[in-house]
This record gives sequence, structure tokens and C-alpha cells, in this order.
Amino acid sequence: MGQNLSCNIQDEHGWFSAIQHGDKETINTLLENDPNIIRKTTVYDRHSALHIAAANGQNQIVCLLLENGSVNPDSLNRYKQTPLMLAAMHGKISCVEKLIEAGANILMFDSLNGRTCLHYAAYYGHSECLQTILSAARTSHVSASWGYSRFVNIRDGKGATPLHLAARQRRPECVHILLENGALVCASTGGYGFPGSTPLHLAARGGSMDCIRELLAWGADRLNRDASGRIPYTVALKHKNGACAALLNPSSAEPLVWPSPLKFISELNQDAKTLLEQALMEVNKERERHILEASGCSVSSHARCDATDIDDNMSEASDSQLCCICFDQLCAIEVQDCGHQMCAQCTLALCCHNKPDPITAALPEPICPFCRSNIAQLTVVKVKVKVNPAEQEVNLYSSSRLQKSRKSRNLSEGSSSFRGLSAVPSFGRMLGRGSGRVSFDHDYDKTVKIEGSG
Ligand SMILES: [Zn+2]
Ligand SMILES: [Zn+2]
Repeated sequence: MGQNLSCNIQDEHGWFSAIQHGDKETINTLLENDPNIIRKTTVYDRHSALHIAAANGQNQIVCLLLENGSVNPDSLNRYKQTPLMLAAMHGKISCVEKLIEAGANILMFDSLNGRTCLHYAAYYGHSECLQTILSAARTSHVSASWGYSRFVNIRDGKGATPLHLAARQRRPECVHILLENGALVCASTGGYGFPGSTPLHLAARGGSMDCIRELLAWGADRLNRDASGRIPYTVALKHKNGACAALLNPSSAEPLVWPSPLKFISELNQDAKTLLEQALMEVNKERERHILEASGCSVSSHARCDATDIDDNMSEASDSQLCCICFDQLCAIEVQDCGHQMCAQCTLALCCHNKPDPITAALPEPICPFCRSNIAQLTVVKVKVKVNPAEQEVNLYSSSRLQKSRKSRNLSEGSSSFRGLSAVPSFGRMLGRGSGRVSFDHDYDKTVKIEGSG
């Protein structure tokens, strides 16, 4: 009897070790000997075989276990963690996918901090897992019963949302994905970190410039105070994050904010969106460079791309491709249907608000500055440039250096690509399009005024 028991313990040890290492042969042998071994858990942590396989990224074993009808995809260990949480924690994307496919519940809370799998993915910075869980939330019962945006902003036991955790742990990619999916940029925590901290406070503490950049671009308020009255700037100073503090200093230039109206454009073309994001980040980095230079902080190497290696072939692009609003950048964005074109920066500026309005949830759709039609879709301009006898498609924006070769056409000097907007440009070049007359407020943050129609 005693011998039998020790044999079982040895089997169990072999079982979990085989699961961990993906040793299918041993697993099958042990299962044949004792089908019940599949329900065993480890002695202390009470991990099931599925927990161990998921945490170790043993996708085939996860499949094998899930195919066995007696395995619960949502089994709990000692800390009420599910296999999905462990897969998200360790960034095992194929296991995350497999578990969700098998019906694992994304809305489970552990007993350690009251966190979900979304918190785990955000905290450990596994952006792919985060994206997969969010996609699942859109289609699963969670969005029906809980609401998608509520899930994105789900709080742990101390009131931290996934965005708080990603900002604190220096996970800019996760910060970006969460914001794009409706995470509230100014939400304050209950007890996590310092009470009343916003994601910006936590990013200031973590010291990630990329996180701060993302949060500011999404409208995070530099003047929000935590429960002890500190603004993010104070937090950055306290933690000796000098460059972060320079950006967070309320007296330094306001960053450009990703315009809310663009979020309302139905199914914004992914390429167009990427271009607009690049444009926004580029403008902000230019500002950042000035702020950092002024404050004596070292400038990060990627803050500025060098202007020296201008592609000679690109200068053959014809004049008609120059943006008719700023006469500085090349047209990179086309409004679908009417076909009017402008550069990404101007597209942004037309829709740009300094701060998203917290009161009016519904914003008017952005309209084309040339013909006043509602912008339903933006696409990326692809221009054919003769590089060699064979024509080659060139994505204009990706070589933004091109603008350097056109400095002579600039209307005015200055560093911001938005300067052209304060002048009333000539629209002679647009006559071929039969557009109406367009004029701009001197404050380019305001909506564009349009007179007459084409
Ligand atoms: Zn422009
Ligand atoms: Zn138009």
C-alpha cells in the first residue's frame, strides 16, 4: 500500500514535469495508466496541468488537455488565477488564443489583487495578448453583459485600471492599445500607487517618456492632482525623471492632442490612421525637442531624424502633390469620394482640439475643407514616382524628409508644420478640383470656416 502511494507521488511529479516540458509521450503514458491524473493539482499552489502548460507556452499540451472533456478551461489555483491569466502574464500568445477559443472566461478576478487577465497582460507588457483579449471582449458575452468600455476600464482591488498598470510599468505599446480601445486617460486610482493618481502620475513615477508622450497625445491633463495635491510634474521631479518633468511642466508648450473627431470617422483606414499618428507624434517630438533643449535635458536620439540623406529621386515628384493648405508637406491623405488631398499634419490640424471635451460626448464629424462634405473615410495617397524605367509606388509620408528639399516653397519660417495654417493660402492649385473658397481662423485649433461651395 505504502509502495503504491509513493509510486503515485512519483507519477504526479513526472506528470507535472512532462506538462511543463511538453513531453507528450510521457503524458500519454501516464494518462493511460491513470486517467484521473488529469485532475491533479500541485501541492502548494494548486496549479492544474492546464495552468502549468499555459504558463510555459506549451500550446500543444494546452490543446491536448482542452480536448479532454474533464478539463475546465477556467480552473483556479490557490490565488484564484486562471490558466488564461498565467498565459497573459507570461506573454504566451498562442495559449491565450487557444484558451479563449476554448471558451475561457476573460472576466475572472484573482484573489491576490482582484485582477483580470487584461490587467496581467497590461502589467507585464504583452501587447499581443492584450490585443487578443480585447478582441475577444468585443465579441464575447462580456461586451453584451458588461459593456466593452467598462471592460477596458476594469478596476482591480485597489482601483487600478489596466491603463494605470501599463503606465506605471513603462509599457508604451500597451498604453497605446488601451487608449485606442477607449481607456479613460484621466481615470484616477483608488488605492493603487498614491490614491487619486491618474495614468499620467504613474507614468511620471515610472519615468517612461514614451508612455507620457502617448498619454499627453490622448489628452491627459498635466494639471490633474492626486489625493495629496500633486500634479504629475511634481511626481516626476520627486523621482528624478528630469526629461519627463520637462514635458510635464505645465508651463512648457501644450502637446498636440490626437483629435477626437477622427475617432468618429467610420472605419478609419488603418494606413491613414498610422500616417496621422506618425504626424501627430512627429509634431509633438519637435515640440519636445525644444522643451528639452530649453530645460537642458539630453535630447533622445530618435527625437529628430536627420535631414541629410534626401532621396534625389523623390524631388522629381510634381508640384501638384504639394499640400494646398500649408504648401510645406506633400499630400499624404486623400478624402474618400471627393478625392481632395492634403498632408497628414493639415488633416490632423483640421480636426484638432487642444483638449477632448469631457462634457459633449458627441462631436460633429470632420468635414473636407475643400468641398464641405463629411469625411467618411481617409485613405493614404500613393503616388507614382519615376525612380527607374519601372514605375514604383512610393508612400510619400514615409519619406517626410522630402519636405526639406522644398524649404524654398515655405510661406514662413518656424519649426511647426502647422504654421502655414495661420496664413490664408491661395487655392489656385485646387481649381482643377472645382473647390469652394476656404479660409482659416487665425487660431488653427478652431474649426475651418468655409465660404461658398463649389
Ligand atoms: Zn498641409
Ligand atoms: Zn473634398
